[in-house]
Amino acid sequence: MCDCRPRLVMVTDYRCNYSAFNGYHFAPSDYSRVWCLRCGGTWRTKAAYVEDAYNAPKGWEQVGSPAKWRAMIGIVLPEEQAARKRAKLLGKGKRVKQR
Ligand SMILES: [Zn+2]
Repeated sequence: MCDCRPRLVMVTDYRCNYSAFNGYHFAPSDYSRVWCLRCGGTWRTKAAYVEDAYNAPKGWEQVGSPAKWRAMIGIVLPEEQAARKRAKLLGKGKRVKQR
């Protein structure tokens, strides 16, 4: 578990696992696997916040960065929003390269 706050995670294995122990097959579990949408950390948890977490979008494994996962899900962090606003103000009339 990471220390990012407020917590923002996506769930890849909801109340199940695919461990080597069961031959990588689906096995129901009290625990879910979540990935932090801020730092990319991952852990398994049975905490209630998985119920309100984002579902991992299809193909997320190929997109190896939290920023890209956020883009796939369509969420913008407050700090990113502020940065965009700043860039817009600074770039009046000019094109601001956004990356
Ligand atoms: Zn984190």
